[in-house]
Amino acid sequence: MRTARLTSGRHLPIGKILCIGRNYSEHIKELGNEHPEAPVIFIKPASSVIGEGEAIVIPPYSHDCHHEAELALLIGRRGKDIPVNRAMEHIAGYGVGIDLTLRDVQRELKEKGLPWEIAKGFDTACPLSDFVEASDVADPQNLQIRLTVNGGIRQDGNTSAMIHRIPAIISYMSGSFTLDPGDVILTGTPAGVSRIVPGDRLVAEIPGVATLRVSVA
Ligand code: ZN
Repeated sequence: MRTARLTSGRHLPIGKILCIGRNYSEHIKELGNEHPEAPVIFIKPASSVIGEGEAIVIPPYSHDCHHEAELALLIGRRGKDIPVNRAMEHIAGYGVGIDLTLRDVQRELKEKGLPWEIAKGFDTACPLSDFVEASDVADPQNLQIRLTVNGGIRQDGNTSAMIHRIPAIISYMSGSFTLDPGDVILTGTPAGVSRIVPGDRLVAEIPGVATLRVSVA
């Protein structure tokens, strides 16, 4: 699946996937990271996207693949240097995504000061749900994000706890990257990230917005 589907029936080909790291304090603590002054930004390629019912394939060079359940924004309007007070106008819809991360590979790359792509952008690294129309979400900054593995709850956070809030993220990212319709933004993960292994069944859910079921091959 490389097309974003909206509940209205509208389809948008997925463009770039912009992600913010370290956007929830409890998650920063669990990894022993510092609070960054500026947002930490990275990109996943569209080729990393899978959809409902598909399988995650953990690359053979990792033994520590983590789930990160995140609120996903679908961009519907082109923009560059978007001011904070106009940022919400660029969102077409909301969904849930899983920012899969090869923690062992990422740690090694970080230590060497190298970029993270092979830890974050491999094939299947970005499971994404369908998107609900932005107008159907009353307050995107007050949504519960849950993730279960084999029925057991692993992540249960709320978007109210974001350090950089949605308009600030869009404004900041659009200072470096023109946002186009079909681009997706992953807004960071709350605490509770953990290892997944072949055979696991993951359900990521934002109640009232989206549910996404994937398995690990
Ligand atoms: Zn993430």
